[in-house]
Amino acid sequence: MSKNFYKMNLQEKQEFTKNFINKELQKHNIKELPIKFSGRMTRTLGQFEQKAIKTNNGWKKVAPSQFKISNKMLKEATIKSIKDTLLHEIAHYLTDYLYYKDLKYTQNHNQKFKKVCNILNCDGMSQAKDYRKVNGK
Ligand SMILES: [Zn+2]
Repeated sequence: MSKNFYKMNLQEKQEFTKNFINKELQKHNIKELPIKFSGRMTRTLGQFEQKAIKTNNGWKKVAPSQFKISNKMLKEATIKSIKDTLLHEIAHYLTDYLYYKDLKYTQNHNQKFKKVCNILNCDGMSQAKDYRKVNGK
C-alpha cells in the first residue's frame, strides 16, 4: 500500500475500496459490478444488491446488481473493519453467483455463506449490521 489509509481523503478511500473489491473479484473470476458510495447509509456499512423477483416459491434471484458502500464507514471505520465489511459483501456475491448458482435467493448467513467466507479469509460474522436490498419487487 502506498499512502497511509488514515491520511487519505474520502475520494482516495473510495478509490482504495474499488481496487480492493475488483481485485478480489478478479481473483475468483467473477464479473465486476458497479460500486456506489452513499452518504445516506449510516447504520448499514455495505450492501450487495441484486435484482430478484417474487415467485410462488419465494424470492428468486435474477442478476447481481451493485455494491453500495457507506461513506460514513470509510471516514470513520478502521481499515480492518472496512476490509471485513467489503469481504462480507463479496462473500454474498460469490455465494449466490459463483459457488452456489442453483440456490434460491436468500439473505441468510447460512453454512454455505460461511464456507465462502472461509475461502475469502474473512470473519463472516464480524459485522452483523449489513443487509441486502432487493431491487424491483
Ligand atoms: Zn450479510
